[in-house]
Amino acid sequence: MIEYSETMSEAQETARKAMDSMRQYGVVPSPQNFLVWYLHHSQRMPDLSREIDRLIALGSDFNQVLVQTLHDRFISQTEERKALAAAGTHIENTLEQLIAMFNRANKGTEHYGQTLKGLSDKVEGATGETLHGIVATVVAETQKMIRLNQKMGTELSQSSEEISKLRQDLDRVRSEARTDGLTGISNRKVFDTVLREATEAAVRNSQHLCLMMLDIDLFKRFNDTHGHQMGDQILKLVARTLQNCVRSEDTVSRYGGEEFAAILPATPLQEAVAVAERIRMTVANKRITNRRSGKELGRITLSIGVAEYAIGESVNDLVQRADRALYMGKRLGRNQVVSQAELDHAHR
Ligand code: GH3
Ligand code: MG
Ligand code: MG
Repeated sequence: MIEYSETMSEAQETARKAMDSMRQYGVVPSPQNFLVWYLHHSQRMPDLSREIDRLIALGSDFNQVLVQTLHDRFISQTEERKALAAAGTHIENTLEQLIAMFNRANKGTEHYGQTLKGLSDKVEGATGETLHGIVATVVAETQKMIRLNQKMGTELSQSSEEISKLRQDLDRVRSEARTDGLTGISNRKVFDTVLREATEAAVRNSQHLCLMMLDIDLFKRFNDTHGHQMGDQILKLVARTLQNCVRSEDTVSRYGGEEFAAILPATPLQEAVAVAERIRMTVANKRITNRRSGKELGRITLSIGVAEYAIGESVNDLVQRADRALYMGKRLGRNQVVSQAELDHAHR
């Protein structure tokens, strides 16, 4: 206990200050309001603290609307999400420690109360009214303290639960921001980040890195013939197939519309071409049927361009080369894999 006594007393002090000011300014003791006041007193959000100090100086009424506004403005802003997540973890840990401490304190005071009660019973009759009265008062006071502590403990554990829910919400929002809504695979934003990091890692570790761009063939026609909803099912099917054909260290993303991309770290060109060929075959061999009518809807094919990262080139150059290979595949009649090696040939 000694080793984190400073942090503990700091946290305890912050929580107490938050509770005190909430009482002082008549703030409803909800977990969200507690968060606002806790952050204010923790000095972790100087802008929030400045605003609260200003409002106090103005003699503002800290009603639900005002505190909610403070929460929305300073805490739920997107750019604060990271800071909030960190603060949330901090508060949650602090509250857990505080609750444990209050629970220990409760046991202590209860014991104290019982001892006093026992004393009171013993001295009853043996001594005068005055002495008994004093002891009874002490017992009553102690019991009041226990109730207060218990109430505080309950409020704090509610706050703790609320904060952990808040953190789950934040995790969900963060994961949704990385995922393509229709197919459930990673989105273009993730692709951009992962590709940039992958090229940096390739340079650092002198490793191969390949990029695959994939485009569904004549998809407009499929949509026109079978409808957009069936088209969406195809996008999901292709995304699933892609994910199943690559290793866990590879990243497949929906690049946009009916285009996908796969990033394959530590993979030389010929290996990536083999993976692309496996993907092409798997998709081309799938029998597409309408689940409701059982009717066959024909086949779906992909054109795939594969390029290998050249140490030192820009990410854009790599993407463009994979794209050029992909469109060469379209020109050559679709349903095929074209590697950058064939592109070089075509140029000569
Ligand atoms: P190509 O072989 O040259 O790629 O022909 P294509 O018809 O696939 O190419 P084009 O770029 O002309 O058309 C792409 C089509 O992809 C048009 C659009 O209807 C369809 N598409 C893009 N996004 C979605 C989507 O989210 N859902 C559905 N159902 N269709 C989509
Ligand atoms: Mg396209
Ligand atoms: Mg297409």
